[in-house]
Amino acid sequence: MSNIVAIVGRPNVGKSTLYNRLTETRKAIVDDFSGVTRDRHYGTSEWTHHEFTVIDTGGYVANSNDVFEAAIREQVVIAIEEASVILFLVDVTTGITDLDDEIATILRKGNKPVFVVVNKVDNNSQQSDATVFYSLGLGEIYNISSMTGSGTGELLDEVVKHF
Ligand code: GDP
Ligand code: MG
Repeated sequence: MSNIVAIVGRPNVGKSTLYNRLTETRKAIVDDFSGVTRDRHYGTSEWTHHEFTVIDTGGYVANSNDVFEAAIREQVVIAIEEASVILFLVDVTTGITDLDDEIATILRKGNKPVFVVVNKVDNNSQQSDATVFYSLGLGEIYNISSMTGSGTGELLDEVVKHF
């Protein structure tokens, strides 16, 4: 399949929750490779008659902080290589962290469309908190709640335009 949407971001921003929401009731493709590949889950999804593969990147299980950050970088680099569209997930409840900045730097150097997706915007009062993420320098931001599904339709409407 040629339409590939990769979800990247640091741990706990809600990547797997979004992945599960997008691929719900669909068959997940579980691969049996090792290392960084094992840390990637592939599933299929569909929006307005566009079919696409969704990739959930990484549990990033590692012992040292160095390896941890290296694993994140590797996942982002693979996403830039193989994805049609990258969803860079961040968390409105924490704001921008150093790791977010580091991921943004890598993504800005890539040549793939990147959507800054601000997750955990569960209610309207958090919409204004999300505006800080414009300073990542990656353009428009998309506020969603992976928990409730709010905002995901508006996001996917824009994503499928890149297929
Ligand atoms: P990952 O490490 O990026 O894959 O993050 P997970 O999907 O495992 O989620 C990390 C935590 O954030 C879990 O406790 C989720 O229930 C929670 N979470 C994910 N999405 C949302 C959301 O939209 N709103 C809130 N309030 N919590 C969320
Ligand atoms: Mg996860």
